[in-house]
Amino acid sequence: MSLLEVENVTLKFGGVTAVNDVSFSVEEGEVFALVGPNGAGKSTLFNLVSRFYDPVAGDIRFAGESILKKAPHEIAGLGIARTFQNIELFDQATVLQNLLVGRHRHRRGNVFNEILFTPFVRKEERRHREAVEKVIDFLDLQPYREKYIAGLPYGVRKVVEMGRALAIEPRLLLLDEPASGLSVEETQDVAFWIEDIKTQMGITVLMVEHDMHLVASVSDRVMALADGKTLAIGSAQEVQNHPKVIEAYIGV
Ligand code: ADP
Ligand code: MG
Repeated sequence: MSLLEVENVTLKFGGVTAVNDVSFSVEEGEVFALVGPNGAGKSTLFNLVSRFYDPVAGDIRFAGESILKKAPHEIAGLGIARTFQNIELFDQATVLQNLLVGRHRHRRGNVFNEILFTPFVRKEERRHREAVEKVIDFLDLQPYREKYIAGLPYGVRKVVEMGRALAIEPRLLLLDEPASGLSVEETQDVAFWIEDIKTQMGITVLMVEHDMHLVASVSDRVMALADGKTLAIGSAQEVQNHPKVIEAYIGV
């Protein structure tokens, strides 16, 4: 059984078929990349997997179970976390606070526990702290720990965005253009982190990325899309050399 199964999924915006009968699966432990020209439907697929949109046809299964009956706020609880192409952080809060809030939004427990501040809550609180501190160390965010997001350079905010999703300790991490706008050196860091997220943390990664060098260096498999349709699935090299993919890129 694959960790994520997207089966014949279609989504339309008015007259535009953003995702057109797309199927693919992501195996546990792999890095799977979605590539394709602007408007191909990559972010829309992310929005479908994170339940922001309902497909008009098809099914999406996570760990063998359809997620289409789940509400968006239940998705993180299942073990799916995502980043946004346009960073979504609280600008007037610190790095630490953003990572903690990311976790708290998905916490279990109930109101009574919180009011009474029971041992259960104290233990949960400690777990949140530990998970967040681990992410701060992992992503070398220690120097920015107490800094406000608003004052941080773009490259650092981009890393915090990844940290916010990692702090949830997901089984599946969705990264929407993790290297967009980053320098060559920063992109190199992202490549190392993705490698470690896979091998050390054992997290499965589904990412959208334009930088084919990064895609080729970290991905086990790649799917190319154009106009909402799958063009090819395979290794980065197979996909890059696929006639349909070459045609789609030359066509734009
Ligand atoms: P990508 O991420 O591959 O660049 P998107 O998934 O953002 O592409 O977009 C796929 C298609 O769907 C495009 O034609 C885009 O204009 C359209 N689209 C995306 N989101 C919306 C929306 N919220 N409303 C209307 N059209 C949208
Ligand atoms: Mg996009």
